[in-house]
Amino acid sequence: MGVYEDLGIVPLINAAGFKTRLGGAALPSYVVESMVEAAGATVDIAGLQARAGEIIAEITGAEAGYVTCGAAAALTLAAAACLTRLDPRKVEMLPDTDGIPNEIIIYRSHRNSYDHALRAAGAKLVEIGLNDRAVGAGVRSLQAWEIDAAITDRTVAVAYVVTTPEDPPLRMVTEAAHKRGVPVVVDAAAQLPPADNLRRFTAEGADLVAFSGGKALRGPQASGFLCGRKDLIQSAALNHLDFDVDLELTSLPPELIPLDRLPGLPHHGIGRGFKAGKEEIVGLLVALRRFAGPPAGREEDGARLHRLAERIAADVSRANVAAATVVDTGGYPEVHLGFGDARRAAAVYRALAHGTPPVIVSEELLAQGTLVIAVATLHEAQGAAMCEALRRAVSTLARA
Ligand SMILES: *Cc1c(COP(=O)(O)O)cnc(C)c1O
Repeated sequence: MGVYEDLGIVPLINAAGFKTRLGGAALPSYVVESMVEAAGATVDIAGLQARAGEIIAEITGAEAGYVTCGAAAALTLAAAACLTRLDPRKVEMLPDTDGIPNEIIIYRSHRNSYDHALRAAGAKLVEIGLNDRAVGAGVRSLQAWEIDAAITDRTVAVAYVVTTPEDPPLRMVTEAAHKRGVPVVVDAAAQLPPADNLRRFTAEGADLVAFSGGKALRGPQASGFLCGRKDLIQSAALNHLDFDVDLELTSLPPELIPLDRLPGLPHHGIGRGFKAGKEEIVGLLVALRRFAGPPAGREEDGARLHRLAERIAADVSRANVAAATVVDTGGYPEVHLGFGDARRAAAVYRALAHGTPPVIVSEELLAQGTLVIAVATLHEAQGAAMCEALRRAVSTLARA
């Protein structure tokens, strides 16, 4: 009996993309095997994180790196790092920030549901700029002078969310912030592929960058990482690691925890609630190394997904289920299914979700009467199952 069957849980076909609520994607065997092996032994976590930091630094071109249990956790640790730096008293204070600088500046158009992760550390968000582009009221984006004008002695960081197209240019933001000595924290959670992005934001001056491990990297669902300035990564570690040790008896890796620069060690920090286990750390590193490896592997993966998308579109069209087109989003191919209007698309969505096996597609274009099949989270065999499920869903609706 399978583990899910034993629990009475029915696995679904996730055709909606790397969604946390759907468990992301099935992990590639090379990641699963590394995690099984990692799970079979115990190691010193601080030492493992220090080694992970070297590998992440090499791959990203940043000074240092650190594995987290997701990009959201990475953002909370990044905010904590900017709030506390290497002050153990402040590490112990968080999330209380009364009386200490606690403001993170953020462009109004960059506000989104994940910035809760910054506030979770105790930071107060200070919005700047206007939302002109999003509402079509004006042509100008955030200007350097607006960043400069917003920075005060209460500012600990500027937050930046990478969008496509990039707006405003990251380099403008890092230059404006650095002129005032303020670090820039970048949310690049879903900015892979392209693999070049592993290095780009750091090269453009970002002080800390958060990436998700459970999305296109195909690492463990509960993994992510930070890369960036060494002192800020040290501070993130200070807010995260378990320090319930007797320093006479235990040594900590000095490159990660610089005891010579600290008045003392804090007890548990704000990050204690989202620890990264050895299995996640190892699995993330294996996934990251593979993703950053020779481009042939990635191109092959891209070509495979393209063929899968074409095959699904052809099968769906042949079955007269919907008008199907393959759309290249820049990252991964998608199959768009046109059902004419939102009500019919919603009915098909529900029929798919209640089918056997349940199939979840993306509803992001529902208002236009379109359902989206994100092929990145499908494997070959699921392509055919997907078409069969669609055919059944549509014929059930025709009978109703
Ligand atoms: C997915 C995502 C996150 C969160 O990533 P996790 O690894 O799931 O924690 C944060 N920010 C953005 C923009 C995202 O798309």
